[in-house]
Amino acid sequence: MELSEEQAARIAMLREDAENRYAEGGDGALDHSVAHKPHDSAFALLLDGKTSTPVVHDERCYICRDPEFAAMGLPLCRRCPDCTRSGRGDGHIPADDTACTVCGYEDGPDDYPTSG
Ligand SMILES: [Zn+2]
Ligand SMILES: [Zn+2]
Repeated sequence: MELSEEQAARIAMLREDAENRYAEGGDGALDHSVAHKPHDSAFALLLDGKTSTPVVHDERCYICRDPEFAAMGLPLCRRCPDCTRSGRGDGHIPADDTACTVCGYEDGPDDYPTSG
């Protein structure tokens, strides 16, 4: 597969990030790094230009810390409806969970009414 200059730069950035996290003691940071696995089916997602924009950040959260999730355009951690309602700040609900890591609130469909 031929990478454009921009794609190659993005992969290099993601690899470096994973290596830094691994160096800081992030066990599995390299194992989980799709940027290191050109034959992984998810690798193409890093190249298609679709990205997600992080809205919250938790330094202890592996999803927030790993820029590959955003680079793949996957759903990222979200604001907590209860924290934002109560003025505690944004809160943090991991993309793979339903409970806020700040207050423990579990969100559900009622928190995200669809319009129309
Ligand atoms: Zn997170
Ligand atoms: Zn919360």
